Amino acid sequence: MSESAAKDTPEQAQFREHCRQWLADNHPGEPPVRLPQSPLEIMTTEQLDYLQAWQKAAYDAGLVGCDYPEEVGGGGRNDCQRVANAEMIRARTPFLPNVIGLGMAAPTVFYHGQEALKQRLLPRLFSGEDIWCQGFSEPGAGSDLASVQTFAEKKGDKWVINGHKVWTSLAHFAEWMILLLRTDKSHKYDGLSYFVVPIRSALGKGVTVRPLIKITGETGFNEVIFEDLEVDDSFRLDELGKGWQVAMTTLAHERGAGEKVTPRSGGMKSRSTHSSTSSSLIELARQCQRDGRPASEDALLRDRIIRQVIREEGLAQNQRRARVAALQDHPARLPLQNKLLSSEIAQDTGAIAMEVAGASASLYLGDDNAPAGGQWPMAYMNSYGMTIAAGTSEVQRNILGERVLGLAKSK
Ligand SMILES: Cc1cc2nc3c(=O)[nH]c(=O)nc-3n(C[C@H](O)[C@H](O)[C@H](O)COP(=O)(O)OP(=O)(O)OC[C@H]3O[C@@H](n4cnc5c(N)ncnc54)[C@H](O)[C@@H]3O)c2cc1C
Repeated sequence: MSESAAKDTPEQAQFREHCRQWLADNHPGEPPVRLPQSPLEIMTTEQLDYLQAWQKAAYDAGLVGCDYPEEVGGGGRNDCQRVANAEMIRARTPFLPNVIGLGMAAPTVFYHGQEALKQRLLPRLFSGEDIWCQGFSEPGAGSDLASVQTFAEKKGDKWVINGHKVWTSLAHFAEWMILLLRTDKSHKYDGLSYFVVPIRSALGKGVTVRPLIKITGETGFNEVIFEDLEVDDSFRLDELGKGWQVAMTTLAHERGAGEKVTPRSGGMKSRSTHSSTSSSLIELARQCQRDGRPASEDALLRDRIIRQVIREEGLAQNQRRARVAALQDHPARLPLQNKLLSSEIAQDTGAIAMEVAGASASLYLGDDNAPAGGQWPMAYMNSYGMTIAAGTSEVQRNILGERVLGLAKSK
Protein backbone atom coordinates (compact mmCIF):
# COMPACT_ATOMS: atom_id res chain seq x y z
CA MET A 1 0.00 0.00 0.00
CA SER A 2 1.41 3.44 -0.92
CA GLU A 3 2.13 5.94 1.86
CA SER A 4 -0.76 8.20 0.80
CA ALA A 5 -3.22 5.29 0.48
CA ALA A 6 -2.40 4.30 4.06
CA LYS A 7 -3.72 7.69 5.24
CA ASP A 8 -6.97 7.58 3.23
CA THR A 9 -10.27 8.43 4.89
CA PRO A 10 -12.97 5.77 4.30
CA GLU A 11 -14.39 7.95 1.46
CA GLN A 12 -10.97 8.33 -0.14
CA ALA A 13 -10.20 4.60 0.19
CA GLN A 14 -13.45 3.66 -1.51
CA PHE A 15 -12.87 6.27 -4.23
CA ARG A 16 -9.27 5.10 -4.76
CA GLU A 17 -10.58 1.59 -5.37
CA HIS A 18 -13.06 2.97 -7.93
CA CYS A 19 -10.24 4.91 -9.69
CA ARG A 20 -7.94 1.86 -9.81
CA GLN A 21 -10.65 -0.39 -11.19
CA TRP A 22 -11.83 2.13 -13.77
CA LEU A 23 -8.29 2.95 -14.90
CA ALA A 24 -7.43 -0.75 -15.23
CA ASP A 25 -10.50 -1.26 -17.46
CA ASN A 26 -10.33 2.01 -19.41
CA HIS A 27 -6.70 2.96 -19.96
CA PRO A 28 -6.62 4.70 -23.36
CA GLY A 29 -3.49 2.85 -24.46
CA GLU A 30 -0.76 4.19 -26.72
CA PRO A 31 -1.72 7.48 -28.38
CA PRO A 32 -2.07 7.37 -32.18
CA VAL A 33 0.02 10.56 -32.46
CA ARG A 34 3.18 11.81 -30.77
CA LEU A 35 2.17 13.86 -27.74
CA PRO A 36 4.05 16.94 -26.53
CA GLN A 37 5.78 16.80 -23.17
CA SER A 38 3.13 18.94 -21.46
CA PRO A 39 -0.34 20.37 -22.24
CA LEU A 40 1.24 23.80 -22.86
CA GLU A 41 2.70 22.56 -26.17
CA ILE A 42 -0.35 20.93 -27.74
CA MET A 43 -0.01 21.90 -31.40
CA THR A 44 -2.32 19.82 -33.59
CA THR A 45 -6.02 18.97 -33.60
CA GLU A 46 -5.08 15.25 -33.67
CA GLN A 47 -3.23 15.64 -30.36
CA LEU A 48 -6.05 17.73 -28.92
CA ASP A 49 -8.84 15.35 -30.05
CA TYR A 50 -7.13 12.38 -28.42
CA LEU A 51 -6.48 14.25 -25.17
CA GLN A 52 -9.96 15.82 -25.03
CA ALA A 53 -11.56 12.40 -25.49
CA TRP A 54 -9.42 11.13 -22.62
CA GLN A 55 -10.40 14.02 -20.31
CA LYS A 56 -14.09 13.52 -21.15
CA ALA A 57 -13.89 9.81 -20.35
CA ALA A 58 -12.08 10.51 -17.06
CA TYR A 59 -14.66 13.19 -16.15
CA ASP A 60 -17.60 10.90 -16.96
CA ALA A 61 -16.04 8.31 -14.65
CA GLY A 62 -15.83 10.88 -11.82
CA LEU A 63 -12.05 11.40 -11.87
CA VAL A 64 -12.12 15.12 -12.73
CA GLY A 65 -13.77 17.95 -10.78
CA CYS A 66 -14.28 15.45 -7.94
CA ASP A 67 -14.37 17.96 -5.07
CA TYR A 68 -16.68 20.54 -6.62
CA PRO A 69 -20.42 20.41 -5.76
CA GLU A 70 -22.69 18.39 -8.05
CA GLU A 71 -24.75 21.51 -8.90
CA VAL A 72 -21.80 22.88 -10.87
CA GLY A 73 -20.91 19.58 -12.52
CA GLY A 74 -18.52 18.31 -9.84
CA GLY A 75 -18.44 14.97 -8.06
CA GLY A 76 -19.54 16.36 -4.66
CA ARG A 77 -16.68 14.55 -2.92
CA ASN A 78 -14.39 15.60 -0.11
CA ASP A 79 -10.64 15.91 -0.78
CA CYS A 80 -10.66 13.20 -3.45
CA GLN A 81 -9.10 15.01 -6.46
CA ARG A 82 -5.64 14.33 -5.09
CA VAL A 83 -6.53 10.62 -4.98
CA ALA A 84 -7.67 10.63 -8.62
CA ASN A 85 -4.53 12.55 -9.66
CA ALA A 86 -2.25 10.09 -7.87
CA GLU A 87 -4.03 7.11 -9.43
CA MET A 88 -3.89 8.60 -12.94
CA ILE A 89 -0.15 9.20 -12.56
CA ARG A 90 0.29 5.68 -11.17
CA ALA A 91 -1.62 4.18 -14.12
CA ARG A 92 0.59 6.21 -16.51
CA THR A 93 -2.38 7.75 -18.30
CA PRO A 94 -1.93 10.73 -20.66
CA PHE A 95 -2.16 14.22 -19.18
CA LEU A 96 -5.42 16.17 -19.13
CA PRO A 97 -5.32 18.93 -21.76
CA ASN A 98 -7.45 21.56 -19.99
CA VAL A 99 -4.71 22.37 -17.55
CA ILE A 100 -5.35 26.12 -17.23
CA GLY A 101 -9.08 25.54 -16.95
CA LEU A 102 -8.78 22.97 -14.19
CA GLY A 103 -5.90 24.51 -12.27
CA MET A 104 -6.76 28.20 -12.45
CA ALA A 105 -10.04 29.12 -14.15
CA ALA A 106 -12.22 26.60 -12.26
CA PRO A 107 -11.32 27.71 -8.72
CA THR A 108 -11.52 31.38 -9.74
CA VAL A 109 -14.95 31.04 -11.39
CA PHE A 110 -16.14 28.87 -8.51
CA TYR A 111 -15.14 31.32 -5.78
CA HIS A 112 -16.01 34.57 -7.58
CA GLY A 113 -18.62 33.80 -10.27
CA GLN A 114 -22.41 34.13 -10.09
CA GLU A 115 -24.25 30.83 -9.64
CA ALA A 116 -25.66 30.84 -13.21
CA LEU A 117 -22.20 31.41 -14.67
CA LYS A 118 -20.70 28.54 -12.65
CA GLN A 119 -23.44 26.18 -13.78
CA ARG A 120 -22.95 27.22 -17.39
CA LEU A 121 -19.15 27.12 -17.51
CA LEU A 122 -17.82 24.53 -15.09
CA PRO A 123 -19.28 21.24 -16.43
CA ARG A 124 -17.78 21.76 -19.91
CA LEU A 125 -14.53 22.93 -18.32
CA PHE A 126 -14.26 19.73 -16.23
CA SER A 127 -15.13 17.51 -19.20
CA GLY A 128 -12.49 19.25 -21.33
CA GLU A 129 -15.04 20.10 -24.04
CA ASP A 130 -14.19 23.78 -23.48
CA ILE A 131 -10.47 24.52 -23.33
CA TRP A 132 -9.50 27.59 -21.32
CA CYS A 133 -6.58 30.01 -21.52
CA GLN A 134 -5.26 32.78 -19.30
CA GLY A 135 -4.94 36.37 -20.61
CA PHE A 136 -2.81 38.03 -17.95
CA SER A 137 0.63 38.87 -19.41
CA GLU A 138 1.13 41.75 -21.84
CA PRO A 139 4.20 43.06 -23.67
CA GLY A 140 4.64 45.66 -20.88
CA ALA A 141 3.22 43.69 -17.94
CA GLY A 142 4.60 40.30 -16.85
CA SER A 143 6.15 40.22 -13.38
CA ASP A 144 4.55 43.61 -12.74
CA LEU A 145 1.14 42.22 -13.60
CA ALA A 146 -0.85 45.14 -12.17
CA SER A 147 0.51 47.29 -15.02
CA VAL A 148 -1.81 45.63 -17.59
CA GLN A 149 -3.11 48.13 -20.15
CA THR A 150 -5.80 46.12 -21.97
CA PHE A 151 -8.80 48.36 -21.44
CA ALA A 152 -12.54 47.78 -21.17
CA GLU A 153 -14.84 50.76 -21.67
CA LYS A 154 -18.47 50.59 -20.49
CA LYS A 155 -21.08 51.13 -23.23
CA GLY A 156 -24.58 50.48 -21.92
CA ASP A 157 -24.76 46.87 -20.65
CA LYS A 158 -21.63 45.93 -22.57
CA TRP A 159 -17.91 46.42 -22.18
CA VAL A 160 -15.76 47.15 -25.24
CA ILE A 161 -12.30 45.61 -24.93
CA ASN A 162 -9.09 46.74 -26.68
CA GLY A 163 -5.56 45.53 -25.97
CA HIS A 164 -2.77 43.04 -26.51
CA LYS A 165 -2.03 39.91 -24.48
CA VAL A 166 1.05 37.73 -24.95
CA TRP A 167 2.42 34.28 -23.98
CA THR A 168 -1.18 33.05 -23.87
CA SER A 169 -0.81 29.25 -23.69
CA LEU A 170 -3.50 27.22 -25.49
CA ALA A 171 -5.28 30.32 -26.86
CA HIS A 172 -5.19 28.70 -30.32
CA PHE A 173 -7.63 26.04 -29.08
CA ALA A 174 -9.40 27.89 -26.26
CA GLU A 175 -13.13 28.57 -26.14
CA TRP A 176 -12.76 30.76 -23.04
CA MET A 177 -10.20 33.06 -21.52
CA ILE A 178 -9.78 34.37 -17.99
CA LEU A 179 -8.87 37.98 -18.63
CA LEU A 180 -7.33 40.61 -16.37
CA LEU A 181 -7.79 44.12 -17.73
CA ARG A 182 -8.19 47.75 -16.76
CA THR A 183 -11.49 49.61 -16.39
CA ASP A 184 -10.00 52.73 -14.81
CA LYS A 185 -6.72 54.31 -15.92
CA SER A 186 -6.33 56.55 -12.88
CA HIS A 187 -5.70 53.79 -10.31
CA LYS A 188 -3.14 51.01 -10.68
CA TYR A 189 -4.52 48.15 -8.52
CA ASP A 190 -8.02 49.53 -7.95
CA GLY A 191 -8.53 50.12 -11.68
CA LEU A 192 -8.40 46.43 -12.61
CA SER A 193 -11.28 44.10 -13.49
CA TYR A 194 -11.51 40.38 -14.21
CA PHE A 195 -13.64 38.84 -16.96
CA VAL A 196 -14.31 35.44 -18.50
CA VAL A 197 -14.41 35.94 -22.27
CA PRO A 198 -15.65 33.58 -25.01
CA ILE A 199 -12.73 34.07 -27.41
CA ARG A 200 -13.28 31.27 -29.92
CA SER A 201 -16.70 32.53 -31.01
CA ALA A 202 -15.15 36.00 -31.42
CA LEU A 203 -12.23 34.99 -33.67
CA GLY A 204 -12.12 37.43 -36.58
CA LYS A 205 -14.82 39.52 -34.83
CA GLY A 206 -12.74 41.44 -32.31
CA VAL A 207 -10.23 38.71 -31.35
CA THR A 208 -7.07 37.69 -33.25
CA VAL A 209 -4.86 34.81 -32.06
CA ARG A 210 -1.31 34.67 -33.43
CA PRO A 211 0.89 31.67 -32.55
CA LEU A 212 4.41 32.19 -31.20
CA ILE A 213 7.13 29.62 -31.93
CA LYS A 214 9.33 28.45 -29.08
CA ILE A 215 13.04 27.58 -29.17
CA THR A 216 11.98 23.89 -29.36
CA GLY A 217 10.20 24.54 -32.67
CA GLU A 218 6.81 24.01 -30.98
CA THR A 219 3.97 26.48 -30.82
CA GLY A 220 1.76 26.46 -27.74
CA PHE A 221 1.57 30.02 -26.66
CA ASN A 222 0.23 32.98 -28.60
CA GLU A 223 -0.40 36.67 -28.85
CA VAL A 224 -4.06 37.64 -28.49
CA ILE A 225 -5.24 41.00 -29.83
CA PHE A 226 -8.56 42.55 -28.80
CA GLU A 227 -10.08 45.14 -31.13
CA ASP A 228 -13.44 46.55 -30.02
CA LEU A 229 -14.60 43.21 -28.65
CA GLU A 230 -18.02 43.58 -26.98
CA VAL A 231 -18.53 41.52 -23.83
CA ASP A 232 -21.57 41.29 -21.59
CA ASP A 233 -21.32 42.66 -18.03
CA SER A 234 -22.47 39.26 -16.72
CA PHE A 235 -19.00 37.93 -17.64
CA ARG A 236 -17.30 40.18 -15.07
CA LEU A 237 -16.21 38.29 -11.92
CA ASP A 238 -15.15 41.18 -9.71
CA GLU A 239 -16.96 43.88 -7.85
CA LEU A 240 -16.00 46.71 -10.25
CA GLY A 241 -12.35 47.70 -9.76
CA LYS A 242 -11.58 44.76 -7.47
CA GLY A 243 -10.15 42.55 -10.21
CA TRP A 244 -6.78 42.34 -8.46
CA GLN A 245 -8.35 40.41 -5.58
CA VAL A 246 -9.87 37.92 -8.05
CA ALA A 247 -6.51 37.63 -9.84
CA MET A 248 -4.95 36.69 -6.48
CA THR A 249 -7.13 33.58 -6.37
CA THR A 250 -5.87 32.60 -9.83
CA LEU A 251 -2.23 33.34 -8.99
CA ALA A 252 -2.40 31.45 -5.71
CA HIS A 253 -3.48 28.34 -7.66
CA GLU A 254 -1.01 28.96 -10.49
CA ARG A 255 1.86 29.17 -8.02
CA GLY A 256 0.67 26.13 -6.11
CA ALA A 257 -0.52 27.90 -2.95
CA GLY A 258 -4.19 27.89 -3.89
CA GLU A 259 -5.26 24.73 -2.16
CA LYS A 260 -4.76 26.46 1.17
CA VAL A 261 -7.10 29.24 0.08
CA THR A 262 -9.60 27.39 -2.08
CA PRO A 263 -9.15 23.69 -1.46
CA ARG A 264 -11.35 22.39 -4.27
CA SER A 265 -8.99 22.39 -7.22
CA GLY A 266 -6.89 19.57 -5.81
CA GLY A 267 -3.92 20.87 -7.84
CA MET A 268 -4.65 19.19 -11.17
CA LYS A 269 -1.35 17.39 -11.60
CA SER A 270 -0.97 14.80 -14.30
CA ARG A 271 1.89 12.91 -15.88
CA SER A 272 3.95 14.55 -18.61
CA THR A 273 5.26 12.43 -21.48
CA HIS A 274 8.86 12.91 -20.37
CA SER A 275 10.13 13.08 -16.83
CA SER A 276 13.25 15.14 -16.07
CA THR A 277 13.94 13.21 -12.87
CA SER A 278 17.15 11.75 -11.52
CA SER A 279 15.91 8.19 -12.13
CA SER A 280 15.46 8.94 -15.86
CA LEU A 281 18.87 10.61 -15.77
CA ILE A 282 20.45 7.45 -14.31
CA GLU A 283 18.86 5.41 -17.13
CA LEU A 284 20.32 7.84 -19.66
CA ALA A 285 23.77 7.64 -18.02
CA ARG A 286 23.65 3.84 -18.29
CA GLN A 287 22.88 4.06 -22.02
CA CYS A 288 25.43 6.73 -22.98
CA GLN A 289 29.16 6.15 -23.26
CA ARG A 290 32.00 8.22 -21.87
CA ASP A 291 35.61 7.21 -22.67
CA GLY A 292 34.39 3.81 -23.87
CA ARG A 293 32.45 3.00 -20.66
CA PRO A 294 28.90 3.74 -19.50
CA ALA A 295 28.65 7.40 -18.43
CA SER A 296 27.11 6.13 -15.16
CA GLU A 297 30.62 4.90 -14.21
CA ASP A 298 32.21 8.35 -14.54
CA ALA A 299 33.02 9.55 -11.02
CA LEU A 300 32.33 13.25 -11.67
CA LEU A 301 29.00 12.60 -13.36
CA ARG A 302 27.99 10.19 -10.59
CA ASP A 303 28.66 12.96 -8.09
CA ARG A 304 26.43 15.41 -9.92
CA ILE A 305 23.68 12.84 -10.43
CA ILE A 306 23.62 11.90 -6.76
CA ARG A 307 23.30 15.59 -5.82
CA GLN A 308 20.12 15.69 -7.92
CA VAL A 309 18.81 12.55 -6.17
CA ILE A 310 19.36 14.27 -2.80
CA ARG A 311 17.70 17.53 -3.94
CA GLU A 312 14.68 15.61 -5.28
CA GLU A 313 14.37 13.71 -2.00
CA GLY A 314 14.48 17.03 -0.11
CA LEU A 315 11.66 18.30 -2.30
CA ALA A 316 9.62 15.15 -1.73
CA GLN A 317 10.10 15.50 2.04
CA ASN A 318 8.85 19.10 1.79
CA GLN A 319 5.73 17.85 0.04
CA ARG A 320 5.17 15.36 2.86
CA ARG A 321 5.63 18.18 5.40
CA ALA A 322 2.96 20.16 3.55
CA ARG A 323 0.39 17.56 4.59
CA VAL A 324 1.03 18.07 8.33
CA ALA A 325 -0.76 21.21 9.52
CA ALA A 326 1.38 21.55 12.66
CA LEU A 327 4.54 21.89 10.54
CA GLN A 328 3.27 24.92 8.59
CA ASP A 329 4.28 28.34 9.79
CA HIS A 330 3.10 30.22 6.69
CA PRO A 331 0.53 28.88 4.20
CA ALA A 332 2.52 30.04 1.15
CA ARG A 333 5.97 28.82 2.20
CA LEU A 334 5.97 25.22 0.99
CA PRO A 335 3.91 25.68 -2.21
CA LEU A 336 6.06 28.63 -3.34
CA GLN A 337 9.26 26.82 -2.42
CA ASN A 338 7.99 23.80 -4.33
CA LYS A 339 7.35 25.79 -7.54
CA LEU A 340 10.74 27.47 -7.31
CA LEU A 341 12.76 24.36 -6.49
CA SER A 342 11.00 21.84 -8.70
CA SER A 343 11.45 24.04 -11.80
CA GLU A 344 15.11 24.72 -10.99
CA ILE A 345 15.92 21.11 -10.11
CA ALA A 346 14.34 19.93 -13.39
CA GLN A 347 16.42 22.50 -15.28
CA ASP A 348 19.66 21.38 -13.60
CA THR A 349 18.81 17.72 -14.25
CA GLY A 350 18.30 18.63 -17.93
CA ALA A 351 21.70 20.37 -18.01
CA ILE A 352 23.41 17.26 -16.59
CA ALA A 353 21.56 15.12 -19.15
CA MET A 354 23.05 17.27 -21.92
CA GLU A 355 26.51 16.59 -20.52
CA VAL A 356 25.83 12.87 -20.14
CA ALA A 357 24.68 12.66 -23.76
CA GLY A 358 27.75 14.61 -24.92
CA ALA A 359 27.80 15.21 -28.67
CA SER A 360 24.61 13.11 -29.03
CA ALA A 361 22.74 15.83 -27.12
CA SER A 362 22.47 17.62 -30.46
CA LEU A 363 20.30 14.77 -31.84
CA TYR A 364 16.63 15.66 -31.55
CA LEU A 365 13.22 13.99 -31.73
CA GLY A 366 12.80 11.90 -34.85
CA ASP A 367 16.50 10.92 -35.02
CA ASP A 368 16.90 7.16 -34.50
CA ASN A 369 20.35 7.69 -32.97
CA ALA A 370 19.17 10.24 -30.37
CA PRO A 371 19.54 8.93 -26.79
CA ALA A 372 16.11 8.44 -25.11
CA GLY A 373 14.36 9.37 -28.35
CA GLY A 374 15.72 12.94 -28.27
CA GLN A 375 13.31 13.92 -25.47
CA TRP A 376 16.02 15.34 -23.17
CA PRO A 377 17.17 18.27 -25.34
CA MET A 378 13.53 19.31 -25.76
CA ALA A 379 12.89 18.98 -22.00
CA TYR A 380 16.03 21.00 -21.24
CA MET A 381 14.94 23.84 -23.52
CA ASN A 382 11.37 23.77 -22.19
CA SER A 383 12.67 23.81 -18.60
CA TYR A 384 13.62 27.46 -19.02
CA GLY A 385 9.96 28.34 -19.59
CA MET A 386 9.02 26.62 -16.33
CA THR A 387 11.34 28.91 -14.33
CA ILE A 388 9.54 31.90 -15.94
CA ALA A 389 5.86 30.88 -16.22
CA ALA A 390 3.64 31.49 -13.16
CA GLY A 391 6.18 33.99 -11.80
CA THR A 392 9.91 33.93 -12.49
CA SER A 393 12.36 32.39 -10.01
CA GLU A 394 13.54 35.90 -9.07
CA VAL A 395 9.98 36.97 -8.30
CA GLN A 396 9.30 33.77 -6.30
CA ARG A 397 12.43 34.51 -4.25
CA ASN A 398 11.22 38.07 -3.66
CA ILE A 399 7.83 36.84 -2.45
CA LEU A 400 9.37 34.21 -0.19
CA GLY A 401 11.84 36.74 1.20
CA GLU A 402 9.34 39.51 1.81
CA ARG A 403 6.09 37.74 2.73
CA VAL A 404 7.34 34.52 4.31
CA LEU A 405 10.69 35.49 5.85
CA GLY A 406 9.67 39.10 6.58
CA LEU A 407 12.74 40.63 4.91
CA ALA A 408 12.75 44.27 3.78
CA LYS A 409 10.75 44.92 0.59
CA SER A 410 12.81 45.18 -2.62
CA LYS A 411 12.76 48.61 -4.27
C1 LIG B 1 5.98 28.54 -20.95
C2 LIG B 1 5.26 29.80 -20.58
C3 LIG B 1 3.87 29.83 -20.59
C4 LIG B 1 3.20 31.00 -20.24
N1 LIG B 1 1.83 31.00 -20.31
C5 LIG B 1 1.16 32.14 -20.00
C6 LIG B 1 -0.26 32.19 -20.11
O1 LIG B 1 -0.90 31.20 -20.49
N2 LIG B 1 -0.90 33.34 -19.83
C7 LIG B 1 -0.23 34.46 -19.41
O2 LIG B 1 -0.87 35.45 -19.13
N3 LIG B 1 1.13 34.46 -19.31
C8 LIG B 1 1.83 33.33 -19.61
N4 LIG B 1 3.21 33.32 -19.53
C9 LIG B 1 3.90 34.55 -19.22
C10 LIG B 1 4.55 34.59 -17.84
O3 LIG B 1 3.58 34.72 -16.84
C11 LIG B 1 5.53 35.78 -17.86
O4 LIG B 1 6.54 35.47 -18.80
C12 LIG B 1 6.15 36.01 -16.51
O5 LIG B 1 5.21 36.51 -15.60
C13 LIG B 1 7.35 37.00 -16.59
O6 LIG B 1 6.96 38.17 -17.23
P1 LIG B 1 7.81 38.76 -18.45
O7 LIG B 1 8.05 37.68 -19.43
O8 LIG B 1 7.12 39.99 -18.93
O9 LIG B 1 9.23 39.13 -17.84
P2 LIG B 1 9.60 40.47 -17.04
O10 LIG B 1 8.59 40.70 -15.98
O11 LIG B 1 9.85 41.56 -18.02
O12 LIG B 1 10.97 40.03 -16.36
C14 LIG B 1 12.23 40.08 -17.05
C15 LIG B 1 13.32 39.67 -16.08
O13 LIG B 1 13.37 40.59 -14.98
C16 LIG B 1 13.24 39.92 -13.73
N5 LIG B 1 12.43 40.72 -12.81
C17 LIG B 1 11.28 41.37 -13.07
N6 LIG B 1 10.82 41.98 -11.96
C18 LIG B 1 11.70 41.70 -10.98
C19 LIG B 1 11.79 42.05 -9.59
N7 LIG B 1 10.84 42.80 -9.00
N8 LIG B 1 12.84 41.58 -8.88
C20 LIG B 1 13.81 40.81 -9.47
N9 LIG B 1 13.78 40.47 -10.77
C21 LIG B 1 12.75 40.91 -11.51
C22 LIG B 1 12.51 38.63 -14.06
O14 LIG B 1 12.78 37.61 -13.10
C23 LIG B 1 13.07 38.29 -15.44
O15 LIG B 1 14.31 37.63 -15.31
C24 LIG B 1 3.92 32.16 -19.87
C25 LIG B 1 5.31 32.13 -19.86
C26 LIG B 1 5.98 30.98 -20.21
C27 LIG B 1 7.49 30.99 -20.20
